[in-house]
Amino acid sequence: MLESLSERLQGIFSGLRGKGRLTEEDINSAMREIRLALLEADVNFKVVKQFCARTKERCLTAEVLESLTPAQNVVKIVLDELTELLGRTDSKLVLSSRIPNVIMLVGLQGSGKTTAAAKLAYRLKQEKHSPLLVACDVYRPAAADQLQTLGDEMGVRVYRGDGKDPVAIAKEGVQDAIDHLRDVVIVDTAGRLHVDDEMMEEAEAIKRAVKPDQILMVVDAMTGQDVVNVAAAFAERVDFDGVIMSKMDGDARGGGALSIKQVTGKPIKFISAGEKPDSLEEFHPDRIAKRILG
Ligand code: GDP
Repeated sequence: MLESLSERLQGIFSGLRGKGRLTEEDINSAMREIRLALLEADVNFKVVKQFCARTKERCLTAEVLESLTPAQNVVKIVLDELTELLGRTDSKLVLSSRIPNVIMLVGLQGSGKTTAAAKLAYRLKQEKHSPLLVACDVYRPAAADQLQTLGDEMGVRVYRGDGKDPVAIAKEGVQDAIDHLRDVVIVDTAGRLHVDDEMMEEAEAIKRAVKPDQILMVVDAMTGQDVVNVAAAFAERVDFDGVIMSKMDGDARGGGALSIKQVTGKPIKFISAGEKPDSLEEFHPDRIAKRILG
């Protein structure tokens, strides 16, 4: 993930370093190459446009061009802008003081919600919390079984209810957490293959019923360009607080991860890279930006 973008950018910078002094044309030509590299990595074109305009403006100053190490300064500016693109500040999972805290997960079917719910529960358990998983995906019968299996493996209680009404199950789940002294409730909701009204209405209804302390959207990094459209639709209807980017271990080009903050205004909080329960990492924009630039 992001390896080919990383290689491309490193190639562009080593070309610049080889030149010593830089002219305006050198910067323009490097920016054209950076623009192409970002587009080929599947970064949203509007995001690329803004990124390149800002970066170019900052690079084309006398201060940069006439400095003793212009190429190094250009790399620093690109690093800074890339960090800005990714969200700049770390966005940790902050639990509010309400007990039980309710975290609701939304996203398309197959995005990795159920897996992420389990990983989040695992993480919270490591941090000495006592999470409860609530299975609200009543359409895909295997989803509740999947959550149950994952919960059993980790020793985390799972509430699955016996009805077909996801709003009722979510509410009962919160009560179950109170009854069993759990301090964090993770509500796994049902997705659909595509954004549709029914899914959004259901998410809105669950949101109204359990008033989550935070809503995290799970986004499949492999979805490419479409990631931002789906996330924008959820941002408009459900107004989530942050993103869990799943399947970062896949061979996607990574542009979605680079676009989502700018398009939706919502930060990536976690990246999920693999099937194991401990493969949910906190997202650090500066570290990722440095990793991309090598
Ligand atoms: P849901 O429909 O949104 O609940 O999605 P699931 O959690 O069932 O995930 C769909 C598929 O993606 C399953 O086969 C998961 O094992 C797989 N999956 C989820 N997260 C990851 C991840 O971070 N990396 C990889 N490689 N596979 C994942």
